[in-house]
Amino acid sequence: MIEIPESATVGRQAGTTLVNKTITDVFTATSPHKFAFFTGDPGEYGKLLKGKRVISAHGHGMFVDLVCSDNICITVGEGINMRYHEPGSKIPDKYQLLIALSDNDFLSFNVAMYGGIWAYKGVFDNKYYSLSLNSISPLADEFDEAYFESIIKNTAKDVSAKALLATEQRIPGLGNGVLQDILFNARIHPKRKKSTLTGSAGAELFRSLKTTLKNMTSLGGRDTEKDLFGNNGGYKTVLSKNTLNDPCVICGNKIIKEAYLGGAVYYCPSCQKL
Ligand SMILES: [Zn+2]
Repeated sequence: MIEIPESATVGRQAGTTLVNKTITDVFTATSPHKFAFFTGDPGEYGKLLKGKRVISAHGHGMFVDLVCSDNICITVGEGINMRYHEPGSKIPDKYQLLIALSDNDFLSFNVAMYGGIWAYKGVFDNKYYSLSLNSISPLADEFDEAYFESIIKNTAKDVSAKALLATEQRIPGLGNGVLQDILFNARIHPKRKKSTLTGSAGAELFRSLKTTLKNMTSLGGRDTEKDLFGNNGGYKTVLSKNTLNDPCVICGNKIIKEAYLGGAVYYCPSCQKL
């Protein structure tokens, strides 16, 4: 799934790879997916997109935008694998959308579980998208301790660390994937209550949130995800499906995986005490 490090990576790669290319053709799904979302009828995308030139690309939160000429934009959300294919590449058998480009290269879009491939003119009317676009990213300097404290303060209930960071889109693009290493690096249990995250624990959580996400981003995303070219990210996840059977890197204990608040959490019971 696209989270902050992946949207930043794919946005940067799309910027250097796709800008100034023109869309020459659009092909709709070879195998329609129940949970692939579009703006209106994807059969009309050709009319909207053909002849448009890519002007810029941006990643934010869990979205990547391809800004095109004539005020047209293509936005992909979490759960979409957008891939660049060089001229002469084999066309994949399965895709939800395929966009041919002016250098005989092309983009394919596929869905992992669910996701949106939205093409539109002007403004994209989507609550989560606007929230993402108008929020301060943890990668930005403006996301400082005072801002983080305001997020904690504005959360009414005494929620858990996972609920605080990775639900309700308080921090757009911080999802259940990146959460695991942020909490591990801060030595905080996913179920630990917000009210106990004061003093050094709160400072440690803030520090870990900033450094873990910056590290993941500078290494091109996590190794559990793929980038624009289909390569795994260079950030080696400490706690993920890839490492579940490995011992804790700090203490050697067995890592626990359990379902909690929509999605599995991974933690070391001795390094991340409740
Ligand atoms: Zn441990």
